[in-house]
Amino acid sequence: MPADPAIDRALARISPAQIQHTIATLVSFRNRSTLSSLDKDLPPGTGVVAAADWIEAQFKATSAACDNCLDVHRDTFIQQPAPGPFSRITQPTPLTVLYAVMRGTDPSQAARMILVTGHYDSRDSTNEDTHGEAPGANDDASGTAVSLECARVLSKMKLPATLVFVAVPGEEQGLYGSKHLAQEAKDDNWQLEGVLNNDIVGGNRTPGDKFQDPHAVRVFSESVPANASPEEIRRYLALGYESDSPSRELAREIVDVARTYTGAPTPYSDKPITSGLEPVLEFRLDRFMRGGDHSSFNHQGFAAVRFTEWREDFNHQHQNVRVEDGVQYGDLLKYDNFDYIARVARLNAATMAVLDEAPPQPVNVQYPSEHVFNNSINNTEIRWDAGPNAPAETHYEIVWRPTAAPDWQRSIPADRLAGVPNGKFSVDGTHYSIQIPISKDNVIFGVRAVDAKGHRSPAVVPWPAPRPTRGG
Ligand SMILES: [Zn+2]
Repeated sequence: MPADPAIDRALARISPAQIQHTIATLVSFRNRSTLSSLDKDLPPGTGVVAAADWIEAQFKATSAACDNCLDVHRDTFIQQPAPGPFSRITQPTPLTVLYAVMRGTDPSQAARMILVTGHYDSRDSTNEDTHGEAPGANDDASGTAVSLECARVLSKMKLPATLVFVAVPGEEQGLYGSKHLAQEAKDDNWQLEGVLNNDIVGGNRTPGDKFQDPHAVRVFSESVPANASPEEIRRYLALGYESDSPSRELAREIVDVARTYTGAPTPYSDKPITSGLEPVLEFRLDRFMRGGDHSSFNHQGFAAVRFTEWREDFNHQHQNVRVEDGVQYGDLLKYDNFDYIARVARLNAATMAVLDEAPPQPVNVQYPSEHVFNNSINNTEIRWDAGPNAPAETHYEIVWRPTAAPDWQRSIPADRLAGVPNGKFSVDGTHYSIQIPISKDNVIFGVRAVDAKGHRSPAVVPWPAPRPTRGG
């Protein structure tokens, strides 16, 4: 997609020094265990509540600097213990979710929302320890810093749709903060179009580690949506759409954004990147047998992905700060790479701005039933409707890839199909239809919305239209 100078200007304001200041301050609260909200004996300026107070103050300061463009929310609730003997919360515990809402400037687009989050709680080797040193500089002060930095730079822009900047606690005990917010988003009908979760994006730099890649970030996305019914799961599998959940189309959108804004390589480039940042698609919900806050949003039916550094050092996560056999343990500030975190923040901010500026995704994207139930057609027909309140200048692109390919490989503006042999394009009000001379047996198609400046929405795959009922 073409670069938008206004987005480039916002990205240029992302500051490694500011990120370092944010993380150093979060580390200074000593131990941000969610369970410390019950403690009465903490030294002043330590613990999770002190951290929450400070984050709230940062959002308010950002808002004051943009003519009060943010609504800052402090949402405190009591988390009950989970049933069973293994609950990592053992008594009713107050949790505080902090979020800042930057309402879209276009009334026709403001209901659409894009959200970035990180968790501000930390832990050491023991879940119950609320007093020992638990700096959490990487896990997850780094992700919290990305969220705050996105708020700081994007609040200088005027964007049509709504952005939400979040910091949650309770991740280490069972994703409780994000579960609460995702439930609230569902109950209040938030129209969340993308959730970006940053957890462990510090770019750990253990001296001597040759395997870290400071120019790669993993993007984890679920396969079949977590909230799909058994019947919906059967349909995903029957159509070969197990790699086309809305979360995965969001992950592909991030790769597309990175080619324009963070120097990621274009398809088939075999040059390793030595500056900028390349998102690497990871086609699984999370790292093996582990979880994160994006899944709370997946469970409520929202597209959500997780960013994590290329290579984690497990001596520097969930560990008491200590030296043992000459090895330094602990999630210490000195292992964070602030330039790397700034690159991750740029990718997040660019993705949020592009999603915000792009027109609404097309809806009712379908293979018409007469094509679906006629097996002898090698030309593919796709129909769709403009998304609600799509601006008049919205146009559409058809994308496709071989079924075995991870990412879109080809695209064509829909209206150009009018000039292709066996191609067709027609529009009737907000109803669109194309024909393309490629068999849907061999490729996966998608349709995405594009504005006049080239901001693209994530693609939407066509589903078969219902079989027509026989008249008579
Ligand atoms: Zn974490």
